[in-house]
Amino acid sequence: MQNKKRVAIIGGGMTGLAAAYKLEQAKVHQDITYDLFEQSDRLGGKIETIVRDGFVIERGPDSFLARKQSMSRLAKEVGLEDELLSNDTGQAYILKEDTLYPMPSGAVMGIPTELKPFATTNLFSPLGKLRALGDFFIPPVVGRDEDISLGHFFRKRLGNEVVDDLIEPLLSGIYAGNLDKLSLKATFPQFQQLEAKHGSLIKGLQATRGSQTQAKDANGKKKGMFLTFRRGLQSFVEAIEAKLDTGSIHKGVSITSIQKVADAYRVTFDTGKVETYNQVIITTPPHITAGLLRSYDFFSYFKEMQASTVATVALGFEQSAVSNPYEGTGFVVSKKSSFDITACTWTHKKWRHSTPSGHALLRSYVGRAGDSAIVYQSDEEIVAAVMKDLKTIMDISGEPLFYEVTRWKKSMPQYEVGHTFKIAKMREDVARHLPGIHIAGAGLDGVGLPDCIDQGERAAERILHSI
Ligand code: FAD
Repeated sequence: MQNKKRVAIIGGGMTGLAAAYKLEQAKVHQDITYDLFEQSDRLGGKIETIVRDGFVIERGPDSFLARKQSMSRLAKEVGLEDELLSNDTGQAYILKEDTLYPMPSGAVMGIPTELKPFATTNLFSPLGKLRALGDFFIPPVVGRDEDISLGHFFRKRLGNEVVDDLIEPLLSGIYAGNLDKLSLKATFPQFQQLEAKHGSLIKGLQATRGSQTQAKDANGKKKGMFLTFRRGLQSFVEAIEAKLDTGSIHKGVSITSIQKVADAYRVTFDTGKVETYNQVIITTPPHITAGLLRSYDFFSYFKEMQASTVATVALGFEQSAVSNPYEGTGFVVSKKSSFDITACTWTHKKWRHSTPSGHALLRSYVGRAGDSAIVYQSDEEIVAAVMKDLKTIMDISGEPLFYEVTRWKKSMPQYEVGHTFKIAKMREDVARHLPGIHIAGAGLDGVGLPDCIDQGERAAERILHSI
């Protein structure tokens, strides 16, 4: 026991859980022990599900991209494969001014791949459409090793209209960020590669899409791109937790600093207690990680890194109270519109398991990069603002049966231009000066849940290879 290598994992979100699961599996055949420290009284971090009166309500993330397979693979490992569900597909919309426009079919992250739906949509002006065709002729905007903002890249290739009315609202749903600051290289390097290879995003996407076959379900219906769990994402967290040694999981424990002492690390708790570990995996959000490692001067990027503040607002209704003339799964909001909501999912249509029959569940987002004042208002004020916005496009009678407002402050890390270079430099410094420290999580190599799993597992694997 004395010779076992001790590993601390700081943070019990998706990244920390994936790392813990990997180490738990390795314990059988490697001389290793681990302790996971989570400041709150529950695991899951940004994953949190409420199950009430037959509704399954996600406070944070609601699903994950099916094509990123690490999450489905881990679900299988922890015995939850049969609980996986894919979303119902349907028309998605863009809300611009007071009108909902169907998303032109074939658009990939807002980039057209089919010209007819793009030519016939009323979402863009004729001039806007013409400008987007410039993509066929404009020489490459970005060099292979260069980084520029998503805004700069897409505006140059496709023009402002397509960016403001389609690309920006779609990408905001993922990053809640400012397109004119977000890094192309860190968020969508594949578009940079398409430009380099095909000289045009439209041509590049047409070529790559042509080689992919669209997955269909048993009835021949197009399969959704997302997956979730029948009893919510929290059930995945619980299934992983059930596989971990309870003696290794410490909830309600906050870490305040980490310092190198000889060839080990001193981990200090908010109670003043100190423990020594051989290696440490840190999965806390960037500004917190920078604080834990404040004795070292190479975390300035993490210290300064921006993170957006948003809130999710779930509203439950009797089905009869909501009259929605639109068939589909939801909409995103063009930045040009003066709404508080930035997106809304008709959850009862996209995820049928989430809502008991005879009811409707609408989940909206408020708050965006540089404009999150609404998140700081009271629940009642936020719900009133959301209801006002929703009523511009749907008939809603009476009040919701219930609402759940969840604030996520500084929760969406912003990968601004230069992110990948700055992270690479930080990693070099850590490897040189703090070997045995492994930094992982949504602040580094991808915000999606599968990306977080990959990062947690990679950190654990590095440790297992090093001992
Ligand atoms: P976190 O989940 O933030 O976990 C970090 C943990 O560290 C937390 O539990 C925290 O309490 C703990 N901690 C902090 N400080 C300390 C300390 N000092 N000591 C000990 N513990 C500490 N991704 C998707 O793939 N699909 C989606 O649909 C989706 N939707 C999203 C919606 C919202 C509203 C948000 C905010 C994010 C969404 N994401 C989505 C992104 C995804 O949820 C996150 O990127 C991911 O959950 C982050 O996991 P993590 O483990 O890196 O960090």
